[in-house]
Amino acid sequence: MSNESATTEPIFRLRAAASGREAIAPVSDGVVYRDAETGEELEPVAAVLPSGDGVSRLPRTPVNLRVCRRCEQLTPRDLANCEFCGLPA
Ligand SMILES: [Zn+2]
Repeated sequence: MSNESATTEPIFRLRAAASGREAIAPVSDGVVYRDAETGEELEPVAAVLPSGDGVSRLPRTPVNLRVCRRCEQLTPRDLANCEFCGLPA
């Protein structure tokens, strides 16, 4: 009896139109987010970390990066191909 849906909801950047204050939160249909201090309604403005091929889920720290042997850029270890030139690992 586990509820996995909470972890798969898209994460959005939310913004209060009047003040420009921002927050990051998963967005569910029918849920209105309000700024904790001002009470303004927060509207989704952009998705954060769109999931899909070519997007690393690892923190961008040295231990999670490798040097591409062709372009010599640092690219995430969990991607099959170099993030910059597409060379397979
Ligand atoms: Zn490369």
